[in-house]
Amino acid sequence: MTPQLFFSKKLPRDPRERFAALEAMGYAPVFTLYQEHGDTVVRLRKPFECPGADALIESQPHGDAIVTDQPGLCIGVKTADCVPVLLWDGTAGVAAAAHAGWRGTAKDIVGKTVRVMRGEFGARHISAAIGPCVCAHCYDTGSDVPEAMPPEAFDYITMTAPGRFTVDLPGINAALLRRAGVSEITMPKACTACRPDMYWSHRRHGNDRGLQVSVIRLRSSKNLMFAEGERAERLRTGGCAAASQAGAGGF
Ligand SMILES: [Zn+2]
Repeated sequence: MTPQLFFSKKLPRDPRERFAALEAMGYAPVFTLYQEHGDTVVRLRKPFECPGADALIESQPHGDAIVTDQPGLCIGVKTADCVPVLLWDGTAGVAAAAHAGWRGTAKDIVGKTVRVMRGEFGARHISAAIGPCVCAHCYDTGSDVPEAMPPEAFDYITMTAPGRFTVDLPGINAALLRRAGVSEITMPKACTACRPDMYWSHRRHGNDRGLQVSVIRLRSSKNLMFAEGERAERLRTGGCAAASQAGAGGF
């Protein structure tokens, strides 16, 4: 199986328009969750037929990560500063998408996702790509965020003033992925808060904003390196996700 990865830029706030935009880019429908900053991992085992956009708008399972072995199924997470993490083992034919805000990061949502991929879906050699999210420079917090974090996070937290900290959420998630045994990790090429022109950022735009959607799907062709179509947002995937993201422009 060849994983196909897609990190969107700004998408509409209205879910119907968002599904339509994703469909226009060749990702339809994208199975997403009602995300709640928790650590619930939703399993979609084959054979699984994705409900249509209307059904997904009506009702989505609650959770913050999806694991599937269904070829062709688009799974995705919605973010606007939080950390989107796409994971895959092409040999085992398993893909996952995880949403890690600071609460999900503190609950090790990525480690829990890796354990489900391994323990329940037979994944062995898992790779990960972290999409656009808030960078450490832009993520200024009080003490509540550092206090919730596991020991692996300490190297990624800097005190800037009494009671004020900067927290490197993508760095912490990469550390948690390494702790879970994932060594091939592609880091984000852009910060949503540094580039509010390209990305929705909760820190920059507040609640009056849309979302980014990060999508992964397993393809049965080993030769497929590019998504179908010609849109620049499409990402090349496969052996080298870093090259894929670099080639997308803007990442
Ligand atoms: Zn930034």
